[in-house]
Amino acid sequence: MYDVIIVGGGPAGLSAAIYASRARLKTLLIEKNGCGGKITITNLLENYPGFNGGVNGFELAVKLETQARGFGAEIIYDEVTSIKNKSVKKIMTKNSTYEAKTVIIASGTNLKKMNIQGEKAFIGRGISFCATCDAPFYRGKDVLVIGGGDSAVQEAIYLAKFAKNVTIVHRRNELRAVKILQDKMLSCSNISVIYNSVPKEIVGKDFIEKVIITNVKTNEVKSLKIDGVFVFIGFIPNNSFLADIAIDENRYIVTDENMKTSILGIFASGDIRKKQLRQVVTAAADGAQAAVSVQYYLENL
Ligand code: NAP
Repeated sequence: MYDVIIVGGGPAGLSAAIYASRARLKTLLIEKNGCGGKITITNLLENYPGFNGGVNGFELAVKLETQARGFGAEIIYDEVTSIKNKSVKKIMTKNSTYEAKTVIIASGTNLKKMNIQGEKAFIGRGISFCATCDAPFYRGKDVLVIGGGDSAVQEAIYLAKFAKNVTIVHRRNELRAVKILQDKMLSCSNISVIYNSVPKEIVGKDFIEKVIITNVKTNEVKSLKIDGVFVFIGFIPNNSFLADIAIDENRYIVTDENMKTSILGIFASGDIRKKQLRQVVTAAADGAQAAVSVQYYLENL
């Protein structure tokens, strides 16, 4: 029986594991893929405090995991399939069942797909969700970036170091990304933006040859000769293994400021949670708070 089981090994889950195991709680963290979550595919985190000049996401992930294990947290790789909420929580995974007095959900979000014709066929063969992983394949080529948020603009800036031309396609007439990223983007001569437009179809045989986009204001249809498409249109909360927990209209888990959910003994932290700012620094803070809330909860059982 664990004091706490943490679902998800991104910055929120790992920070929760650091705080919980350091507080001498018997702690198990269950991660589906590899620890670190989305930061493992981020080349440079420029705004995580304490790293002047930035830190590579994968390096930070390794440091977080090592720190959590160092304080005694157990970390296993498995996929949580459901959680049964009794006085003891039963956590079912693909391979086993675990019991805990409390649970911290830190399972983050999954990448949103475009759901257009040709997308399925070209994922991994010209459509990418990770510039850090795939930018070098597009040296001297023409790429499209879909989306207008921080991810799209930040990744477009990274891609511009490799590709000949980077074209951002954004559905509105202004970008959502923060000003500092937009200013950086403007200083890259090979990045351009097509506003008020959405992709309609990815066309090609063995490789992507062109992308059809539509102007949502004028309905004008354009065909762009493109070698690769990078998609950054946001995320969907990853909480399908949980029933009966309060969520908002976008499926994010509702918590109070101490990370308590609507279910006694179940806490949530990081990107999965309804909140304004989804950053590594807020994920880490959420994880710390969730672990402390678990401590208070266990002391008053
Ligand atoms: P996001 O902020 O949700 O932005 C998604 C973008 O994709 C928006 O511009 C949205 O358009 C567009 N979009 C959504 N659905 C679409 C669709 N079906 N078709 C076409 N376009 C679509 O996602 P994100 O940029 O990945 O950022 C997620 C979180 O991580 C944010 O909180 C962000 O601040 C944070 N982040 C921070 C940094 C950094 O600080 N350096 C870097 C990356 C991410 P609309 O604008 O019209 O909604």
